[in-house]
Amino acid sequence: MLVSAKEMLEKAKAGHYAVGQFNINNLEWTKSILQTAQEMNSPVILGVSEGAGKYMCGFKTVAAMVEAMVESLGITVPVALHLDHGTYEGAYKCIEAGFSSIMFDGSHYPIAENIEKTKELVAVCREKGISLEAEVGAIGGEEDGVIGGGEVADPNECKMIADLGVTMLAAGIGNIHGKYPANWAGLRFDTLAAISEKVGQMPLVLHGGTGIPADQIKKAISLGVSKINVNTECQLAFAAATRQYIEAGKDLEGKGFDPRKLLAPGVEAIKATVKEKMELFGSVGKAE
Ligand SMILES: [Zn+2]
Repeated sequence: MLVSAKEMLEKAKAGHYAVGQFNINNLEWTKSILQTAQEMNSPVILGVSEGAGKYMCGFKTVAAMVEAMVESLGITVPVALHLDHGTYEGAYKCIEAGFSSIMFDGSHYPIAENIEKTKELVAVCREKGISLEAEVGAIGGEEDGVIGGGEVADPNECKMIADLGVTMLAAGIGNIHGKYPANWAGLRFDTLAAISEKVGQMPLVLHGGTGIPADQIKKAISLGVSKINVNTECQLAFAAATRQYIEAGKDLEGKGFDPRKLLAPGVEAIKATVKEKMELFGSVGKAE
């Protein structure tokens, strides 16, 4: 059964660790993340962007696959299925499809409109027991073709959105999606500390977890970050392992062309990445 992210994130905030959100793209991705979470006895959030949802034949297909997989693999750790950077329309589609967690990204709207739409979704999600993530201050980099400017969130605006009753809040603190450029200035801990002070117990979300140095991740967790999104890093690991397999000519040996063999090194690479992140975030052994 899929669960809301509320309880796992409240526990994480209280226990000073973070739960990873790992984005999924297909069956192999989903299976490797779920198996690793179970092996690590860690709660986990499966992220689905609108583009990935479309790729996987719609949110209903995704929800059906994940629910069935949790059952058939005997997964007992808490699993949340979460819409990543959802539009207003996408949020409703996922609620209907059976997602247990939603992110409504209204960061590109003027703050008044972001508040109005978030408020409406708070009421709908609360009634259905679904966790809701809101965003203040666009996060830099590219997500499904949308380029964010890498804004730094206004702590007062964060407080306004947090007070609407969302479950968790994503705030831009200099983080960006995708690979970080060599001249990246690092996370803005002054802003993070100010936001944390304003929003109190609300779990904060750090997007763009790929390539943030471990010491900065740990510091962010100590300042109230309880959910960290990882997407690009699993993609890079999968691609590198697959490249190695083909460049070594393994697909030409025996039945090496069988997709179950061809994709196996990539799957192992995703598992290793997820394991490493769970260890860094401190969520290992935290599934009750
Ligand atoms: Zn993001």
